[in-house]
Amino acid sequence: MHVESFGAAEGVAYVEDFAYVKDVAYVEDAELCEQVRAGDPRAFHVLWERHVAMARQCAIGCTRGSAADAEDAVSEAMLGLFQALRGGRGPVGNVPGYLRVSVRRAAARTAARRHRELPVAELPDLPASENGCRVTAYFDVACAREAFLGLSEQRRIAVRLLVLEEKGAGQIGERLGIASSAASSLVYRAKEALRAGYLRRHVSPADAECADVMDRVVASLRGRSVRRHTAAVSSHLHRCAACREGGRQLRDVNAGLPQRVRGEGVRAAPGGRVAAGVVRRTAGSGTAG
Ligand SMILES: [Zn+2]
Repeated sequence: MHVESFGAAEGVAYVEDFAYVKDVAYVEDAELCEQVRAGDPRAFHVLWERHVAMARQCAIGCTRGSAADAEDAVSEAMLGLFQALRGGRGPVGNVPGYLRVSVRRAAARTAARRHRELPVAELPDLPASENGCRVTAYFDVACAREAFLGLSEQRRIAVRLLVLEEKGAGQIGERLGIASSAASSLVYRAKEALRAGYLRRHVSPADAECADVMDRVVASLRGRSVRRHTAAVSSHLHRCAACREGGRQLRDVNAGLPQRVRGEGVRAAPGGRVAAGVVRRTAGSGTAG
C-alpha cells in the first residue's frame, strides 16, 4: 500500500508538500499522532516515512522472508494505524511498538489467509487449534518452539523426557541425578517458563522499558507476584498505547492456556509432542497430585 491507498483525495496532494514535511521533521511521533487524529493526513505521511522501513524489517522476520507477505503485513498494519488514529484511537507515542504488534498480527492473518504452511521443523504432532486452521497452529508452534529453545538446558531436557519419552518424575530425576521431588518441581517450573516464554513471543516491544513492562505483564498473567512494580507498570501502561495493546493481546492468548496450578508436576505424560503440547496441555493432565 502506498499513501494513496487510504484516500487519494487527501493523500497524494500532500505527499508532494515538502514544505510541510520539512516543517514537521523534528516533531515527535506523539504530536504527529494527535495531528492525524485531528484530521491532518499529512502528519500520517510523515509517520509513514519514519517507520515504514522498521515495519518492513519486522514483517520480513514475521513472514519468514516472503517479500509479498511482508508487504501485505506492512500495508495492513499501516492502514490499521491510520484508521485507529482517525478514529481517535491508536498509539499516543510509541508508534514503532504499536506497528510491531500490528505487523506480527497482520503477518499471522496473512499467512492464514494464504493457507501457506510455515516451515517449522522438528515439531510433529501439531496441537488441534480451536478454529481448525493448520497455519494458525503452525504459528503457535513456532512461538512454542522459540520459547522451548529459550529454556535452560536442564529444563529442556526435563521437557523432552516428559513429552517425548513420557518419563515420570522418578525417571526424570534419575536421568538428571536429582531427587524425584526436585524433578517434579523442575518440570513444573519448566512448563511455566515455557508458557511464559510462549506468551512473551506474541509481542515485540519497541525498547528496553517496554520489554521490561511486557515481561512483568506476562509474569502477572501467569500468576507471579509483581506487586513491588505495580506503580511503575501502571504508569507506563497509562502513557504507552503499544504496551496497552500488547497487554490486551497477551491477556487474550493467556486465556487459552492452562492456568498456573501450584503443585502441578508430572506423573505420566499424556499424548502430544514437544513444546506446543506442553504449552497447550490442560493443567489437570500430568498433575503429580
Ligand atoms: Zn511501552
